[in-house]
Amino acid sequence: MRRFQHYIDGEFSDGEACYSSIDPASGTVWAEMPEAREGDVDRAVNAADKALYEGAWPKMTATQRGKLLYKLADLVAANAQVLAELETRDTGKIIRETSAQIAYVAEYYRYYAGIADKIEGAYLPIDKPDMDVWLRREPTGVVAMVVPWNSQLFLSAVKIGPALAAGCTMVVKASEDGPAPLLEFARLVHEAGFPAGVVNIITGFGASCGAALGRHPKIAHVAFTGGPETARHVVRNSAENLASTSLELGGKSPFIVFADADLESAANAQVAGIFAATGQSCVAGSRLIVERSVKDKFVALLRDKAEAIRIGAPLDMATEVGPLATKRQQDNIGVLVAKSIESGARLVTGGRKIDGDGYYFPPTILDCDDVASPSLIEEFFGPVLSVVSFETEAEALRLANDTRYGLASGVFTQNLTRAHRLMKGLRAGIVWVNTYRVVSPIAPFGGFGLSGHGREGGMAAALDYTRTKTIWLRTSDDPIPDPFVMR
Ligand code: NAD
Repeated sequence: MRRFQHYIDGEFSDGEACYSSIDPASGTVWAEMPEAREGDVDRAVNAADKALYEGAWPKMTATQRGKLLYKLADLVAANAQVLAELETRDTGKIIRETSAQIAYVAEYYRYYAGIADKIEGAYLPIDKPDMDVWLRREPTGVVAMVVPWNSQLFLSAVKIGPALAAGCTMVVKASEDGPAPLLEFARLVHEAGFPAGVVNIITGFGASCGAALGRHPKIAHVAFTGGPETARHVVRNSAENLASTSLELGGKSPFIVFADADLESAANAQVAGIFAATGQSCVAGSRLIVERSVKDKFVALLRDKAEAIRIGAPLDMATEVGPLATKRQQDNIGVLVAKSIESGARLVTGGRKIDGDGYYFPPTILDCDDVASPSLIEEFFGPVLSVVSFETEAEALRLANDTRYGLASGVFTQNLTRAHRLMKGLRAGIVWVNTYRVVSPIAPFGGFGLSGHGREGGMAAALDYTRTKTIWLRTSDDPIPDPFVMR
């Protein structure tokens, strides 16, 4: 059985406790994971705090930090296949997706390597004589990074990359479900040569490890990705240390298809948008909003494609949909689908978990026209698509915005002016037009409403890991006059 360790203060160590990790494809234990509790969390945060102010890290130039990040990017690229296999083994995400995604994770580190020495301060044209005033941009401090089980290397890279570019130190908490790839990634951080304590990587359960990390007095910022309910705990805990937070949460993203769209392309994008990663994707296009005149045709196209999907072992390159990450997830989705059908939704395909070993659930489509179905409101985080139809553009927009989430959205149409109107009208942090689920380190990513706040990706994300310091320098040699007048 594989055994994994924490990475704290530049060393690999066992946790205060340990637990078994389950292979979701077979439902059997395959590895032993360390479990951090308050003591490990405290050790990791103290190591990060020390590394922020002492030793080699604060003395490095931004260019030197960038060079370490380039090295890390190269190591991620060289080890992408090993990391992908670990992620597939521990979370059930199919190898086709993990290998492509992790190879691209290297590009995120490369992008932020280039940004490290482009974070500039400012000289202010101040309204007083004989004064020079500058803004220095300094690292925010020790950052707590908390990620969910899906795509842990990707979701941590969008935090670790900009934070290192900005000069922060950090404690990264991998999800208790499937932490293997992130714990293994720590070996690459070590090999790249980051000074001890700059990056610490631990895992443990949310209520103990995650909460202790988020409210630790030495944490300046919590970068969280997960569900809205957990985010509320994170924000409540931040009332103790007054840390700032950035929250990347879930979604119930609309996928709008107009009758004039290229329906074959739209169907392929929709299938990938909802069934890739077995639907365990924050940007899953889980609400199809389709023009009524083409609804039957489009849904039939989707049904045929969904039923042709190869469900199988996640480590098999031919597999297109693998298991869900946990049994809890498989059970929840089963309950939500059953509730939706009870509320009047019509099952087009799928609908029941697949019996046998592993946590499999087939691609499922629910027709929810004229039904108040929970599947139009709640995030399933699974392979379930809910369909409604519309007559007019205004109705499409109203349906799309009828959600408390606001992460992503998709529009398929050949009508350029309509596409522009929708780009403006959609209340979501991302609008994809005639495409879906494309990301890049250069493009900011994040949502509105219950989908959270803060943006990952792009230059702005690196600036978000800095705080400004205002420097006043008096340039006159004249004596300072009357001390009781503020100047
Ligand atoms: P979750 O919210 O249950 O857990 C996320 C992380 O938070 C885990 O590491 C967990 O241990 C930790 N945690 C739990 N309680 C905590 C607490 N009190 N304090 C601090 N940390 C705590 O999420 P999940 O179920 O693992 O993942 C699914 C959710 O993540 C979905 O809602 C999905 O949409 C969202 N997600 C969002 C994005 C995005 O970028 N917007 C990306 C992927 C997933």
